[in-house]
Amino acid sequence: MFFFFLFGAKSFKKELKQYDGKRVYCPRCHNISMQYVRNWNFITVFFVPIIPFSFYKELYCPICGNHTMDANIV
Ligand SMILES: [Zn+2]
Repeated sequence: MFFFFLFGAKSFKKELKQYDGKRVYCPRCHNISMQYVRNWNFITVFFVPIIPFSFYKELYCPICGNHTMDANIV
């Protein structure tokens, strides 16, 4: 039962360099703030990322947290 709290999952986002800081309109908060990001999900042990289990690219808004998958992201 104690071990239940030692494992978790965390995602890490990093802006894609090839879009050079380009911002896109966010339909949820109406700001020009959505970024193209690479998202890595890790299984964590004691809050330390150990095993990556998914990887994808998405549009992410740092203001409201809205995120969408965009098929046009290369
Ligand atoms: Zn937003």
